[in-house]
Amino acid sequence: MVTATFRFYEELNDFLAPERRRREFTVSCARAATTKHMIEALGVPHTEVELILLNNQSVGFGALLREGDRVAVYPKFEALDIRPLLRVREQPLRDTRFVADCHLGGLARLLRMMGFDTLYDNGFVDEEIERIAAEQGRIVLTRDRDLLKRRRITHGCYVRALRPQQQLREIVERLDLTRSAQPFTLCLSCNAALHAVPKARVEHRLPPRVRELHYRFSACEVCGGVFWEGSHWQRMRALVDAVIH
Ligand SMILES: [Zn+2]
Repeated sequence: MVTATFRFYEELNDFLAPERRRREFTVSCARAATTKHMIEALGVPHTEVELILLNNQSVGFGALLREGDRVAVYPKFEALDIRPLLRVREQPLRDTRFVADCHLGGLARLLRMMGFDTLYDNGFVDEEIERIAAEQGRIVLTRDRDLLKRRRITHGCYVRALRPQQQLREIVERLDLTRSAQPFTLCLSCNAALHAVPKARVEHRLPPRVRELHYRFSACEVCGGVFWEGSHWQRMRALVDAVIH
């Protein structure tokens, strides 16, 4: 048995027992425990961790702990600029794509509104989310810490906010999504791409007032929905502007 000293930074403290927050503490570690084992044993999902310093050296999740080690653990996207240091993951995900757990349907629609490919189904079980994330390189969004501890999930975000609009702000801020947003390019219901369609092609399906007032339309090839910049769109536009500016 070895003892090591830990210090967690910023929001990682939310996962710790109250007496361990924002301070150094010493714990006994199991034989041959790695940084990942201990961080998760202390309650912090490994997907929330961006940088581990072991005796001031950047290490990965597999580093073995030895007697007297000092471990500093930093969250993703901490304000501190940690870019020059080696991070725990070799590969950032190239595209920002998500899979949301079955409780985050509202957030999934709002991410689609912002143009981020987001899979969601209220029937998704944990195994399926893990498989989709691993096979398709998607970031898991969840309010379930245990889901993020699954082995094949390498990129995930524990969502703290409870309401969809606040969740959207939280994710956009944490992952720095402002510049990559492409609002109104995906169908909110099916996550499929929207395409501009000439008015003549959809005219027969429009309510008279819409036919009179609107000229630009887009359609989803999956659900067949037709969209225009009406009052619902204007409310969404205001939300998009508030989130990305
Ligand atoms: Zn659709």
